[in-house]
Amino acid sequence: MTTTAGRARTTTAAARPGPAWRNWSGTATAHAQRFWRPRDAADVVRAVRWAARAGLRVRAVGGGHSFTDAAVTDGVLLSLDHLSGLEHLERRPDGTAHVTVGAGTRLRTLNRLLAAHGLAMENLGDIDRQSVAGAISTGTHGTGARLGGLATQVVGVRLVGADGEVRAVDATRDPALFEVARLGLGSVGVLVAVTLRVVPAFTLRAREEAHDLVDVLDRLDGPDGWVATTDHVDLYWFPFTRRALVKRNDRVPAGSGPRLAVRRRLEDELLQNGAFELTNRVAAALPRTVPALNAVAARALADRTYCAPSADVLVTRRRVVFREMEYAVPRDALRDVVEEVDAWLRRTREPVPFPVEIRFTAPDDVWLSTAYQRPSAYLAVHQYHRLPHARYFDAVEAIVRTVDGRPHWGKLHGLDAARLAELYPRFDDARAVRAEHDPDGLFRNAYTDRVLGPVLRP
Ligand SMILES: Cc1cc2nc3c(=O)[nH]c(=O)nc-3n(C[C@H](O)[C@H](O)[C@H](O)COP(=O)(O)OP(=O)(O)OC[C@H]3O[C@@H](n4cnc5c(N)ncnc54)[C@H](O)[C@@H]3O)c2cc1C
Repeated sequence: MTTTAGRARTTTAAARPGPAWRNWSGTATAHAQRFWRPRDAADVVRAVRWAARAGLRVRAVGGGHSFTDAAVTDGVLLSLDHLSGLEHLERRPDGTAHVTVGAGTRLRTLNRLLAAHGLAMENLGDIDRQSVAGAISTGTHGTGARLGGLATQVVGVRLVGADGEVRAVDATRDPALFEVARLGLGSVGVLVAVTLRVVPAFTLRAREEAHDLVDVLDRLDGPDGWVATTDHVDLYWFPFTRRALVKRNDRVPAGSGPRLAVRRRLEDELLQNGAFELTNRVAAALPRTVPALNAVAARALADRTYCAPSADVLVTRRRVVFREMEYAVPRDALRDVVEEVDAWLRRTREPVPFPVEIRFTAPDDVWLSTAYQRPSAYLAVHQYHRLPHARYFDAVEAIVRTVDGRPHWGKLHGLDAARLAELYPRFDDARAVRAEHDPDGLFRNAYTDRVLGPVLRP
């Protein structure tokens, strides 16, 4: 495997007999010796102990929505799909609650079960196909300058360690292990349950407006800027155009209107998936048409406002298959980064029909979080799966490197442990936890070797 963002894309574990597994975007494939779907935590314990005796490595997989080879192994691959659903719900005096769910619970299922109890996740990313464990393990985040990523909503986890023992850890019971267990690529064990802090269900008013990109960049900052005054800001800028779709979502009282009509939802589906797939196919067949296609797509953006339960506003459907790289950059570096990416695209005319997405999160204290102690802006670049992405991703990676960008752990990138150690102040602490809890590297794979380095024996 190479170390560039563009080429670090396809990993096939040594071809051995056994069921093949492939991730959503088709960038990673595994031929595991054993592919198991444990029915409960005791089954996970049996699988981990069996693998250790057999000298095989173990990885868990959730929704397979990482673009990297994070879940790939040629040893034992465990799908936690059966460890799904609510285990425990504890209401708190302030209206929040702690819910314990099976680690394999998909966010879609979680959102539904929370809604049935009048609760919701404080924030979400833009899809709901991931498992809770997979989402937190890679630092999945949404947008909102006052809100952290999903791992910040975790108050405790239960995991099966390399010794085959089940441990419950949280901020007071083994806090160091908790840090790496909640965001550490499954490098210290298989999560079997996750306890999340959730909030009373809330309604969001979504305002979607097309703006000039320079105008948008001018209006983001400062105490009265959009980022500071809006609960969730999400931008989609179309390369080769000056147009960006700005989504601003704010909490409003339940029952606020207007509601999103079913007809509009169908239109969304058509525009976001049906028409967009067609556009991308044309782009792949005739790459030179991309600037014109993007100009048409950007002009088609229509302003609208609607209100809906938080998950319905935050979550979208993504059926057009793509490749993605996303970097967290210091909040105040965003403007320069966008201008440099824009200049590179205009200079090279690289055919990129997908918009660039920009989001924001609060600083947090999760050791391996991309927003660790840094107010962050996220710049995500996408490419249609039938178009080459290497030149584009490598160029953007070189730009964000100059501002100490931190790559999303679940998306394509080319960094290795040596560079990541410079970007994460607690990187060596995380490695020490891994060495203590998995000295023989039962949970390692090629991706953890690259991004976390080899397991250092204590
Ligand atoms: C269409 C699309 C949209 C996306 N949108 C967003 C977004 O809005 N925001 C964002 O931040 N990211 C986003 N992502 C990235 C995605 O959230 C992450 O890659 C996430 O890890 C996927 O979750 P998963 O359940 O599919 O995990 P997988 O890809 O299956 O696994 C991810 C990692 O978690 C580990 N793991 C899984 N289960 C366990 C377990 N039980 N115990 C221990 N380790 C485990 C795996 O070994 C692997 O290392 C998106 C990805 C796609 C394809």
